[in-house]
This record gives sequence, structure tokens and C-alpha cells, in this order.
Amino acid sequence: MENNNEPWKEKGSIWKSKSAYWTWIRGQLRRAASRYPIKNAFIYANRFSMANGKFKNGNTKIQWGGECNHCEETFILRKLAVDHIIPAGSLLDPSQLEEHITRLFCSYENFQFLCKECHDKKSLRDNLLMRGVDISAKDAERAKKWILIKNLKVEPLRKWLSERGAEKEEMKNKATRETFLANHFNIWWVKPFTKNTQAKTRRP
Ligand SMILES: [Zn+2]
Repeated sequence: MENNNEPWKEKGSIWKSKSAYWTWIRGQLRRAASRYPIKNAFIYANRFSMANGKFKNGNTKIQWGGECNHCEETFILRKLAVDHIIPAGSLLDPSQLEEHITRLFCSYENFQFLCKECHDKKSLRDNLLMRGVDISAKDAERAKKWILIKNLKVEPLRKWLSERGAEKEEMKNKATRETFLANHFNIWWVKPFTKNTQAKTRRP
């Protein structure tokens, strides 16, 4: 096959770049994977009925639940993610298709239940690993707090910063505030220090 398959370059293409095109394909595969029968088999085999609060008439509510494979707490099914232990990884060009599909439509043993919190932490680590950055579980825990603070509105954020000894200069704009925060939480894998690197980290 000739290597001239570049739909993102064609007139009227909705994809502005090769990476946008492959992100779309990845999304479509994820949609198919969400209906994967082996995943459903995993859910049916690992869910159990559990008491979850009471109805107005005093009867106990029984719902499907499961156990998070990381923190080992019990949650109702709706609050659990079915996680790929080995993640499907990146899909940036056709050479990665076979591996990606094999990992996405994986065998039963590669599934686990994770609660939202544990899943968020693992996703952060998996996503960074995809870009060649290996952060520890402790790093991911810190990142959680960092994101909470980073998303504060400007005024509460300024207050938070000044309570932690930030100078006026360090609070003057978004970039300086983010630099202070990245240093404070030791978010060594993100470098929001110049406009250029910021643009780079946003575009995979
Ligand atoms: Zn958990």
C-alpha cells in the first residue's frame, strides 16, 4: 500500500493534524471497547449485591457493588471504573494499531475494578508513562492536591499562595502562580515555566 493515506490533509477534513485524526480513531476504538463482552463478563463475575442506604420506608437499598483493587474499599458499581491493568497505550500512527487493539480488547485477567480516586491516580501515571515519564505513586498523590489548588479561582488562590509565603512577584500572573505551585508540590514532570513548553505539554 502506498503511504499516501493522509485524510487530515484533504479538503474539508475535520482533522487539523495527524494527531487529531489518530485521537479520533482511538476514541472510536474506546467506544467499541466499552461494549466489549469480556469486560462485561468481568463485571458480572466480580460484582456483588450490597446494602447502600435506606429507602424512605426504612427498607435497605440493595445495589450492585464491587471492590477497588487498589484501596480494597467497597463501592457501588456506578462509582467503579473497569480498568485495564496494562493500559492500551498510545495510538499515534498505524504501526501502533496491533498492539493498541490487542491491549484494548484484552483478556479477562487484565481487568480490575478501581474507585474514582485510585483510577485517577493510575490514569495520570499511565498517561505520563505513555509520554516516557515515569512518576511514582507518591508523585500521583501529590499531583491530586496540586490539581485541586491549581483549579482554585484567582482570589482564593492568591490567599492560599500568600499564606505559603509567595512573594508579590510570584503571584502576578497565571504563569508565575503556576510556577510557584509546581515548585511547591514538586511537580517535576510538568514545566509550566515558559509559554512554549506550556503549549507543548498541551498537545500530545
Ligand atoms: Zn480505590
